[in-house]
Amino acid sequence: MRRFFPKKKKPDGLNFGKIGRKINVLTIRQQLICLLEKGEMNARELSRELKIREKEVYDHLYHIQRTLKTRAKTLHIDPFYCLVCGYIFEDRKRLTRPGRCPKCRQGHIEVAAYRIV
Ligand SMILES: [Zn+2]
Repeated sequence: MRRFFPKKKKPDGLNFGKIGRKINVLTIRQQLICLLEKGEMNARELSRELKIREKEVYDHLYHIQRTLKTRAKTLHIDPFYCLVCGYIFEDRKRLTRPGRCPKCRQGHIEVAAYRIV
């Protein structure tokens, strides 16, 4: 005679496992998107807020830019500008901070600011 053992039904939402133990890349990107949807922030502020290096901020922004395309949203960039002569890096395709100003050759560049609209 076969005995029937009913399968224990696992309730939804109880399997938290490792979530919350470490912040993964996805979570940082989600936080970044969330921050930029709320208001404009520059790379320095984002790096401080998310406790990652400025270089990593640019890396995440690059991926976010691509993700947003599929969601009909855009990453609006308030471009880098030179603190010495006021040159604005309007046509810059790369997200990273430019080394020096092409006009006056100085290295005092104000970081770009971003927001998601
Ligand atoms: Zn300049």
